[in-house]
Amino acid sequence: MSLARGYAVTDNTAPLKPFSFERRAVGPDDIRIDILYSGICHSDLHQARDDWGGAQFPMVPGHEIIGRVVEVGANVTRLKVGDIAGVGCMVDSCRTCDACEHDLEQYCEQGPTWTYNSRERVSGELTQGGYSDHVVVEQRFVVKVSETLDLKAAAPLLCAGITTYSPLRHWKVGPGQKVGVIGLGGLGHMGVKFAKAMGATVVMITTSPEKGADAKRLGADDVLVSRDPAQMKAHANSFDFLLNTVPVGHDTNPYMSLLKRDSTMCMVGVITEMDPPLTGGNLIFGRKSVAGSGIGGMAETQEMLDFCAKHNIVSDVEVIDIKDVNEAWDRMQKNDVRYRFVIDMATLKNAA
Ligand code: NAP
Ligand code: ZN
Ligand code: ZN
Repeated sequence: MSLARGYAVTDNTAPLKPFSFERRAVGPDDIRIDILYSGICHSDLHQARDDWGGAQFPMVPGHEIIGRVVEVGANVTRLKVGDIAGVGCMVDSCRTCDACEHDLEQYCEQGPTWTYNSRERVSGELTQGGYSDHVVVEQRFVVKVSETLDLKAAAPLLCAGITTYSPLRHWKVGPGQKVGVIGLGGLGHMGVKFAKAMGATVVMITTSPEKGADAKRLGADDVLVSRDPAQMKAHANSFDFLLNTVPVGHDTNPYMSLLKRDSTMCMVGVITEMDPPLTGGNLIFGRKSVAGSGIGGMAETQEMLDFCAKHNIVSDVEVIDIKDVNEAWDRMQKNDVRYRFVIDMATLKNAA
C-alpha cells in the first residue's frame, strides 16, 4: 500500500478539498505512475454533482492523467521505469467478453472499472482518479506517451482526445467529406483538430459567435452559429457527419436538418434525455442516423496518441494550480474555458 494525496469531494454539493487515501501495492502486472498533469473533463463535474446518479464518495476525480513510470511489476513489458505514461477513463475490465476480446474494453459487457467513482474488480475498493500525486494501474490500461509532445497539453488526449478520435475513425471521416463538430469545448476543440488532420472539411458549429476566430485557428474551415436560423438554412443537407459534444439535454432536431441523406450525427456529450425529444420524421426523411460513442479502447487510445505524436496534435490548455480547482470547475460550468483546464500536479506539494 502507498499513501496518496489528492483532492476529493465528499458529497454532491461539496467543493474539492485536500484528501489522503491508500493506493494498492504494485502487483506483478501493475505500473505505478507519479502524476505530472491531470486534465479537467466536464464528466468530472457531472459525476461529482451526481448528475448521472450512482455517485460514490469520497471521490477523487480525474481521468486525463499523464505521469512518469516510477515502478513496474515483474510481468510488465509495455512500459519501463522512466517512461511517460497515460491513463484515461478506465483502469480495468473483464478482459474476456466479446467487447474486451475486440479491444473495445469501454463496452465491456460486465462494465469496465472506471478510473474513479467505480469499484476495483478484486478488492471492491473505490477507485480514485488523477487529481492526486500517483496512481497504480494494470499495464493493459496504461498507454505510452511520446516525450516529443508537450506533456501538459497531452493530458486531455486521454479522454477528450480519444472520445473524439474514435467516432471520427469509426465513421471513416476523411478527404472529400464535410464534417461538423457541435460545441467548442474540451471535446469539440479536439474534434476539430482531428477531423482536419484526417483530411475532412471541418465546420465548427457553436452557440458562441465569439469563439469563431479560435475555431478557425484550431483548423475549422468555416464556423456556423447554431442560434442563427439563416446560417443553419445555408448549411442544410450538406454534412456527411456531425459530432455532437454538447454536455446537456438540448434540442437536437435543428442539427438533423444539416445532415445529407444517409448521414449520421454521433452523440458523445449528453448521456441523459434529448430535450425536447428527437422527432422521428427527422430520421425518416433522408434515412438519417443518430448514434453514440464512448471514449475508445486501449489499443485505439495508443493509436490516437501515436497519431498525435506524428501530427503534433495536443490540446489548447490553461494550466492551473490545484488550489484553484474549484474556480476552474465553476468556469467550466459557465462555458468559460479555452479549451481545457489542466492541473499541474506539482502544485499539490504546496496545498494545505
Ligand atoms: P465543455 O468543455 O464544457 O464543452 C461543452 C461545449 O458544449 C461548450 O463549450 C459549448 O460550446 C457547448 N454547450 C454547452 N452548453 C450548451 C447548450 N446548452 N446548448 C448547446 N451547446 C452547449 O465539456 P467537455 O469536457 O467537452 O464535455 C462535453 C460532454 O461530453 C460532457 O457531457 C462530458 O460528460 C461528455 N463526455 C463524454 C465522453 C464519452 O465517452 N462519450 C467522454 C468525455 C466527456 P459552444 O460555446 O461552442 O456552443
Ligand atoms: Zn472525460
Ligand atoms: Zn469485458
